Amino acid sequence: MALPTLFIGHGSPMNAIEENSARRSWQSIAEQIPRPKSVLCISAHWETKGLCVTNSSTPETIHDFSGFPQALFDLQYPAPGNPTLACRISTLLDPEPVRLDDSRGLDHGAWSILMAMYPNANIPTVQLSLDMTKSPEIHYDLAKRLAPLRDEGVLVIGSGNIVHNLGVFLTHGHINFNWAKRFNEAAKRCIASKNHRELIKFEQLDSEAKLSVPTLEHFLPVLYPLALQRSEEFVSFFGDAEPKSFFMTSFIIGAAYKIKPKG
Ligand code: ZN
Repeated sequence: MALPTLFIGHGSPMNAIEENSARRSWQSIAEQIPRPKSVLCISAHWETKGLCVTNSSTPETIHDFSGFPQALFDLQYPAPGNPTLACRISTLLDPEPVRLDDSRGLDHGAWSILMAMYPNANIPTVQLSLDMTKSPEIHYDLAKRLAPLRDEGVLVIGSGNIVHNLGVFLTHGHINFNWAKRFNEAAKRCIASKNHRELIKFEQLDSEAKLSVPTLEHFLPVLYPLALQRSEEFVSFFGDAEPKSFFMTSFIIGAAYKIKPKG
């Protein structure tokens, strides 16, 4: 049976250590789905020219942020890599060239969520980079080639944020921004109705869409699980209870997800 596929709105790196609803939902979802053989994460925090995949059997934990408490820098997520999977990904994406990167570790877009989902760090994890020279449409079409992985025990996770405007967040703090809410709802409508092509042309979803997606890196990971959606599958959303200039909206495809009561 195919594994589900996920998009996680990862938000602040602090979610790795804070006891909050986002972190609880990540823990809960991992308990509700079959245990994967490996994880493939497409994170907002690995931008490249050309495609790369992590190929180290012991990827380091990258602390790719600044201005956070020391406790966050002290965290390690020593999940093994999976060079065999890296090679498989390269084969699936062929003829698109993929560079196997022996030195790259796991960034916080991957480990901050996986630390909650699989705290024992014993599931081999690989990251595929975001080739920023490609359009959203090409990302979506390339991601489709990864479809067989779901039948091979690989949990494919896109990790970013549908709405992500850190500049506005830092300037204004936690205000309920209407433009962000409008865009998030429009994006959710596209996702729920499987209008992926409409979502890919996100600039046309709202006159202020560029405020929600000022840069592409947090938005592109949304397209990866969507590209792997099969015709009979539906989407369950979770995690978007607190609207701000970034939204924690997340979804799972291929499994019904029940939000567990607090406690
Ligand atoms: Zn991020």
